[in-house]
Amino acid sequence: NGTIGILGGGQLGRMLANAASQLGLRTHVFCPEESSPAFEVCAGITVAAYDDQASLSAFAKAVDVITYEFENVPADTVAFLEAQGAIVRPGAKALKTAQDRLHEKEFVRAIGADTADFHPVDDLKSLKAGLDKVGRPAILKTRRLGYDGKGQTRITTDDSDLSAAYDKAIEFAWAEVGAAPSILEGFIPFEREISVIGARSHDGEIRLFDPAENVHRNGILKTSTVPASTSEETNEKAFTVTRKMLEELDYVGVIGVEFFVLPDGDILVNEYAPRVHNSGHWTQDACAVSQFEQHIRAVAGWPLGDPVIHSSAVMENLIGAEVKNWRSLAQEKNACVHLYGKSEARDGRKMGHVTRLAMN
Ligand code: ATP
Ligand code: MG
Ligand code: MG
Repeated sequence: NGTIGILGGGQLGRMLANAASQLGLRTHVFCPEESSPAFEVCAGITVAAYDDQASLSAFAKAVDVITYEFENVPADTVAFLEAQGAIVRPGAKALKTAQDRLHEKEFVRAIGADTADFHPVDDLKSLKAGLDKVGRPAILKTRRLGYDGKGQTRITTDDSDLSAAYDKAIEFAWAEVGAAPSILEGFIPFEREISVIGARSHDGEIRLFDPAENVHRNGILKTSTVPASTSEETNEKAFTVTRKMLEELDYVGVIGVEFFVLPDGDILVNEYAPRVHNSGHWTQDACAVSQFEQHIRAVAGWPLGDPVIHSSAVMENLIGAEVKNWRSLAQEKNACVHLYGKSEARDGRKMGHVTRLAMN
């Protein structure tokens, strides 16, 4: 037994806390928001800013190990907790690399995997140089803080007035994520998108769930389907990259790695999340051990669970007002309904998900 500290209080924290509870473990959530989906299901709560050192020290003392469900936890917060003697899993390298798209892509290339062509952008001149390198269409993204496709602007051949397009992209990115666009990526005409949810234990054991095939709508994940329609060969490539990432990051916990699959079956890494991932929610209902339990097992020093799939599944996110349909979903056969207890069904907000099982 023991207590697991979780930085961040969203739905991922809630599902981690539920998984920990099933294993007889307690959770203590630390997050700045006054009301959060994880609060209802965890044993301890600290509401404080990520730079509140007194609260962080007390939190570190109250728990046996610390993890996070939110990848934008400031790196300084993790460094401070580690300086207090706390064990933070996954460690600082995995977190820091994931927080910056430029470092993330450089890391992926350094371990021998491919990404879209990219170029750092901090003014019109570097944007022009970037377009010469990656071609058009291209996507201008922020290096930090982006999620659900927010703050991303496409630059096409129609954008002849580059200076005007850049100004517009800057305004848009600041409004959506509070940062300037700062990396240009070549647009990938992918055939499909897949992700691998992987786990590594403190003693280096690695277990990988089968790839899920993901469909996004308006930049937000809409469905994840298992098994994916990719070939064994493509899946094997994705597994090899995921294993390499887990090892090179000296990772402990669950990681979510997103890939673009090209028409010839080759793969490019889009990005990774140093945490449980939305495209792995189907594991709750289609596997004996979910990604949430797997993550808790890894950070708590348990043996990892078997990631085998016992049923084909399609996970569908309930976004904004879609959650109002819960009563009809609740009556569907072989549909597993998960709601996050959020009161306001704002547009684009993830309110819950439903996983439909094939029961094969
Ligand atoms: P999240 O973290 O919620 O997955 P994000 O804001 O970090 O999203 P990305 O994963 O970079 O955003 O992009 C969201 C989606 O936009 C991708 O899953 C893909 O469908 C599309 N996309 C992003 N980059 C490219 C690209 N270079 N070429 C083609 N499509 C892209
Ligand atoms: Mg992302
Ligand atoms: Mg993504």
